[in-house]
Amino acid sequence: MDPRVQQFMAMIKARNPGENEFHQAVQEVSESLIPFIEDNPKYKHAKILERIAEPERTIIFRVPWLDDKGDIQINRGFRIEMNSAIGPYKGGLRFHPTVNLGILKFLAFEQVFKNSLTTLPMGGGKGGSDFDPKGKSDNEVMRFCQSFMTELFRHIGADTDVPAGDIGVGGREIGFLFGQYKRLKNEFTGVLTGKGIEWGGSLIRPEATGYGVTYFAAEMLSTRDECIKGKTVCISGSGNVAQYATEKVTQLGGKVVTSSDSNGFVYDPDGIDPEKLKFIMELKNVKRGRIKEYADKYHVEYFEGKTPWGIKCDIAMPNATQNEIDEEDAKILVKNGCICVAEGANMPSTPGAVEVFLKAKILYGPGKAANAGGVATSGLEMTQNSMRLPWSREEVDERLHTIMKNIHATCVKFGTGDDGFINYVNGANIGGFVKVANAMIAQGLV
Ligand code: NDP
Repeated sequence: MDPRVQQFMAMIKARNPGENEFHQAVQEVSESLIPFIEDNPKYKHAKILERIAEPERTIIFRVPWLDDKGDIQINRGFRIEMNSAIGPYKGGLRFHPTVNLGILKFLAFEQVFKNSLTTLPMGGGKGGSDFDPKGKSDNEVMRFCQSFMTELFRHIGADTDVPAGDIGVGGREIGFLFGQYKRLKNEFTGVLTGKGIEWGGSLIRPEATGYGVTYFAAEMLSTRDECIKGKTVCISGSGNVAQYATEKVTQLGGKVVTSSDSNGFVYDPDGIDPEKLKFIMELKNVKRGRIKEYADKYHVEYFEGKTPWGIKCDIAMPNATQNEIDEEDAKILVKNGCICVAEGANMPSTPGAVEVFLKAKILYGPGKAANAGGVATSGLEMTQNSMRLPWSREEVDERLHTIMKNIHATCVKFGTGDDGFINYVNGANIGGFVKVANAMIAQGLV
C-alpha cells in the first residue's frame, strides 16, 4: 500500500474504531485521491481529505414503538449529515437489522461523491435504523415510522436534509414517514423523495436506480463497441434496484438469468421475461415473500444460501448489498467470460474483488457512479416539488439518461490511463471530489 494512504488510514481507523465498512470506503477513495491531491496542493493545504472524511453532524436517537401484541420495542435511529458544501444533505434511509454507525457512515461518505457526480446541487447524507421490516405488519411498520420521524423531523427539511429510501425503505415506509412529518410541521414540502405519485412524487423515481445502472452499463459497453442486446446478465437482489434493472436490461434485448434475496438465488436459463418479472414484483412488493417461490412456480433451480456469481454471464449487476462479491467470486466471473460489472448496490465488491476486475481490465463501474441514477432522479423530484410542477415520464427518463451519460463522460475524463484503459474507480472518485473540494475551499473553514 502507498505509505501516504497507510498513514492516512491509520488516522481514520484510530478516530473511527470498529467501523470496518467506513474504513473500506475511505481507503478506496483515498487510494485514488492522495496521488491526485499531491499534484493539486491547494487541496492538501486546505486538508480537504481529512475534512471530507469527518461527518458535519451525526445524530443517533432512541426509537420506541409498540408491536401488535402491545409489547414495547426499542430500536436505534441514525442520520449522518456528511457534507453540505454543494447542497442540502441528501441520501437514503436504510431499515435493516445490520444497520450500525459504520455502515451508515460508509454510505454517507460514498453519497457525497455520488451526488456531486450527478451535477445536481445535493450534499451527502444517509440514515436509518436497525429495525427489521421483515415479518412486521403494516401497522407495526407505521408505528415504527411515526416514532422514527418524531425525532428525525427536527433535523431535516426541504432546504436542509432530504432523505429517501434504501434497503427496507420503499414507497410504504416513505408514505408513513412523510405523513408524520407533515403532521408535526404542518407543512407540505419536498422533505422526502420517493413519494407516491399522487402526493409529490416523480414519475420514474421508482425505476431510476435500476434503469440508471443499465444505462451506465450500456455506456461502458459502447467504449468497446458492445451493447446490452444479446448479452446474458446475472443480477443479485430482487428489491427495487434489481427489479427495474431486470426490466431495462430486458427492454434493451439482454437476458437476465438470476434473481436473489438474502436466502438464496434462482437460475432461470430462459431469462426472466416481463411476465415472470411481474410475478417477482408482486411476490416482493405486495406479498413480501421469498424468491424460492419463483423456483417453485417456474420449475427452475434454486440455490439456498448461495449468491449468483458462479453462473456464466457477460454482465454482472450486483444489486443487493455491500460486500456481496468477494475475490473468489470475482475470479470466477472473469474466468467465465464476464466483461462488465455494473454496481446497482453500494460497495457490493470487496477490495480484493475490485482488484481482480481492474487487473483483468474488464469494464468495472463502481456503485457511486453506476447507481447514481436513483439520487439524480430524487434531485429531479426536488426540482419538481420546488416548481410545484410535475414532468412527464418521458421527460424524467430523458433527463436520467442524459445524467448517466454525463457521469460516464466524467469517469472517462478523470479515469483514462496512459494505456487507454478507463479506471472508473479513479474517474468517479476524482470526478466527484473536485466540485465538493472547490466549494469547501470557497466557503472557508467550515
Ligand atoms: P430493497 O430493500 O428494495 O432490496 C434489497 C434486496 O437485496 C432484497 O432482495 C434483499 O433480500 C437483498 N439483500 C439485502 N440485504 C442483503 C444481505 N445482507 N444479503 C443478501 N441479500 C440482501 O433495496 P434496494 O433495491 O433499494 O437497494 C439495493 C442496493 O442498492 C443497496 O445497496 C442500496 O444501498 C443500493 N441503492 C439503492 C438505491 C435506491 O434508489 N433504492 C439508490 C442507490 C443505491 P431480502 O428481501 O431477503 O432482504
